[in-house]
Amino acid sequence: MTAVKNIRSLSLVELKEYFESIGDKKFRAIQTYEWLWKKNARSFDEMSNLSLELRKKLAEDFEFNTMTVDMTQQSSDGTLKSRFKTYDGHLMEGVIIPTEKRNTACVSSQIGCSLACKFCATGLMDRKRNLHFDEIYDQVAILNEQSLKQYGTGLTNIVYMGMGEPLLNYNNVLKSIERITASDSMAMSPKRITVSTAGVAKMIRQLGDDKVRFNLALSLHAANDEKRNTIMAINESNNIDALVEALNYFYEQTKNDITLEYVLLQGVNDSLQDAEELVKIYRRIPTHLINVIEFNPVETIPFLKSDEDTTQQFTDYLAKHRVNVRLRRSRGKDIDAACGQLANKA
Ligand code: SAH
Repeated sequence: MTAVKNIRSLSLVELKEYFESIGDKKFRAIQTYEWLWKKNARSFDEMSNLSLELRKKLAEDFEFNTMTVDMTQQSSDGTLKSRFKTYDGHLMEGVIIPTEKRNTACVSSQIGCSLACKFCATGLMDRKRNLHFDEIYDQVAILNEQSLKQYGTGLTNIVYMGMGEPLLNYNNVLKSIERITASDSMAMSPKRITVSTAGVAKMIRQLGDDKVRFNLALSLHAANDEKRNTIMAINESNNIDALVEALNYFYEQTKNDITLEYVLLQGVNDSLQDAEELVKIYRRIPTHLINVIEFNPVETIPFLKSDEDTTQQFTDYLAKHRVNVRLRRSRGKDIDAACGQLANKA
């Protein structure tokens, strides 16, 4: 093995082959693998039961592209936002949202985003590149360590609702979840993981074909195509009918939970007629929950948050029509850590 390769892309079997090829013992592979996936080492230097010489050899033969924490901020409501730096100098953000029963990590899947949804701060940035699966894994592992330190308990839930569109980085997102849930690694239950998408119908079907075991959230935000086209350009190629069909397929194949997300934008999608149309869509999708999200203001974005009365009437209408609805108050607003505010601002 001469080419420099990312060490975390090797399976245990491949690591064993490597150690054999350099004339070392196979059990070194187990030790190294544990450092990578159980002890979450972020450099070869940390691998203290390997000889100095061997650590040097590994550093010559492999890349170890770990993330570092560039900065952490705490909100007055306890929300913790960290800015991470990739090995090649990109920045991206992850958040921990503590509640009484849960510590939920919100992680990024891309650096920037290519979708440009009109209400989202990340959408104002270009997509720089996809995150590699081990970089997504690092965010989770680091946020888990922070959670333990800060709140005394580790992460209970993970949502892929940070920067980027997870289904446009499909393979890395799935591989990261494979590692987060693997028994030889973090062993988290996939039932506690939710991937949120702006709606890529083809990839939602792919999730069904791949029989994934995690949950899915769809950022719907408008209940007819005309309106959805104006705030989410992706709707032009993935309209509501296509998404409804794909979500039904996903559910048939996996029986996993589906949640709809709906951010209330003043005068745009918050009328009772909008609520009525939303109920109709809800009935066509195998979902038991609509999360109505408070809009979080973003500088240079012209939308406003719906006022309290309108918000109340909207959620009341849904509840009256037997929709299971939860109003999601935003968290971490004072440090720009809330939904749609992640844009690497200090
Ligand atoms: N691209 C994926 C993952 C990002 S999730 C997706 O669209 O689902 C982030 C969630 O926050 C999405 O539901 C998104 O629509 C929502 N959001 C974006 N900007 C927001 C804002 N300014 N206020 C509140 N929610 C916002």
